[in-house]
Amino acid sequence: MNQRFDIIIIGTGAGGGTMAHALSDSSARILVLERGDFVPQEDENWDPEAVWKHLRYRAKEQWLDERGREFTPYTHYGVGGNTKFWGSVLYRLRREDFEAVRHIDGISPAWPIDYETLEPYYERAERLYHVRGEEGADPTEPPRGPFPYAAVPHQPEMAAIVQKLRAQGLHPSALPLGLMRVGEDDGCILCNTCNSFVCKVDAKSEADVCCVRPAIQRPNVTLWTNATAKRLLTDPCGRRVQAVEVDRGGEVVRVEAPLVIVSCGAVNSAALLLRSKTDKHPNGLANSSGLVGRRYMAHLATMMQGFHPFRPNSTVFQKTVAINDFYFRGRRTEYPLGQIQSQGRTHAVMAQTVVPWVPLRAYEAWVSRGVDWLVMSEDLPRDDNRITVDDKGRIHLLYKPNNLVAHRELVAEMKRILRRLGYWLIVKHSHGARNTTHQCGTLVFGADPKTSVLDSFCRTHDVENLFVVDASFFPSSAAVNPGLTIAAQALRVADHIKATEL
Ligand SMILES: Cc1cc2nc3c(=O)[nH]c(=O)nc-3n(C[C@H](O)[C@H](O)[C@H](O)COP(=O)(O)OP(=O)(O)OC[C@H]3O[C@@H](n4cnc5c(N)ncnc54)[C@H](O)[C@@H]3O)c2cc1C
Ligand code: SF4
Repeated sequence: MNQRFDIIIIGTGAGGGTMAHALSDSSARILVLERGDFVPQEDENWDPEAVWKHLRYRAKEQWLDERGREFTPYTHYGVGGNTKFWGSVLYRLRREDFEAVRHIDGISPAWPIDYETLEPYYERAERLYHVRGEEGADPTEPPRGPFPYAAVPHQPEMAAIVQKLRAQGLHPSALPLGLMRVGEDDGCILCNTCNSFVCKVDAKSEADVCCVRPAIQRPNVTLWTNATAKRLLTDPCGRRVQAVEVDRGGEVVRVEAPLVIVSCGAVNSAALLLRSKTDKHPNGLANSSGLVGRRYMAHLATMMQGFHPFRPNSTVFQKTVAINDFYFRGRRTEYPLGQIQSQGRTHAVMAQTVVPWVPLRAYEAWVSRGVDWLVMSEDLPRDDNRITVDDKGRIHLLYKPNNLVAHRELVAEMKRILRRLGYWLIVKHSHGARNTTHQCGTLVFGADPKTSVLDSFCRTHDVENLFVVDASFFPSSAAVNPGLTIAAQALRVADHIKATEL
């Protein structure tokens, strides 16, 4: 027998989890579908070997790259989605990111909404995700009120680095971080296993803890774990989704609702729409624009480490500093370069995954004298950078990075900064085209159905009762971490749904 609800939400990450929380106080009967399970609290949560060597929490499936080679995507399926593993750096986009911006490789397109439209939702999202920060220090900061919580103080070595960065004429600022109850009983202990790890004490602000668990306390919200949405089934006209076909622990079931909100992550949401093709939608659901799966972006990201043989680094929680001086323009170019953030400490096991034949002890000696940074630039939307699904339903990720000149310039800038800080050796590493952590842009939102898949409230132009609220709506990737913007837009869409649909 078909089961009926008022709303079905598919996915429990930054978009779906936030949406479930925002709608849970309505009277609607909500079914939340999640293909994974709850991630258990266990010692392996904080074990670098389990996380980096055995990939214990990684999605088990393989995707194919542009040459048809299989690879394990850097993504996670479970309650909370990728937010369980994020570094919890929770940035607002810069005000200018909502406008068209000229880059070395072309134009980063304007969004259909401006910063002021999203600002109240950023504020709500920051409260929901317990964001800590310092207002007024970041030269690129958009207009805003105070952060809900004060910034995490820099540990001594990082505080000294911040002073030296200022002496270089730079404007370092505090990274905005979603961490709960820092220093309190049962709160965040500022450990060195945060980014890429699950928080063993549930003190990281992520969608499972902050949104899904509170939402399912309500009697109107039902969560099915191990429940994968296989296809969206439409009515004979193809204008409305009637039901979702779900693989629930191996059994295929059909669930119905007058409103369906997809939030499977930018790659999987596009794949779900492509797999849901029908006679009325032969190229995939909601794809009259031909853009479903296209314009995939993921940022250009390079990890950099400054090393000094006689300068041991005792910092435990290192991820507190941002350098945004090159966000809008470089020293030698008028074009934007991107953002620099201090990173969590590199673990020897993680370093060993890059060059496995170097003994672990050598890496331990190395990483204990290193300071770690992430250098991140915007990549631009291109129709040819896309997700496709083959006859067997497998995901192909066809992606050629662009804006590389800007990124190389930012990496060179960081090298100069690290040299001036006195580091003897600088190493760098990038996952390149297979870096799927900041995936976005595959179902772009906009005003014109010919040039976008979703409208400005993330409803598909073609299918009237279908919304998508994960990172796929991004028309541009900007150069800050995407999570808070996904959550803010989910809150905005939830308000719109409450006002118009419930
Ligand atoms: C290691 C790591 C560190 C990161 N650090 C940061 C950071 O510091 N700051 C930041 O802003 N961002 C960070 N990110 C990125 C951030 O996590 C993502 O941008 C964000 O989680 C995306 O939210 P989403 O809702 O689009 O998708 P996700 O969070 O990926 O959620 C998608 C959900 O849908 C589920 N799902 C997928 N397909 C189906 C299906 N067919 N049926 C049912 N369920 C399905 C998945 O299991 C998952 O729960 C990081 C990511 C990673 C991996
Ligand atoms: S204790 Fe704090 S720093 Fe450590 S994983 Fe949890 S939230 Fe992150």
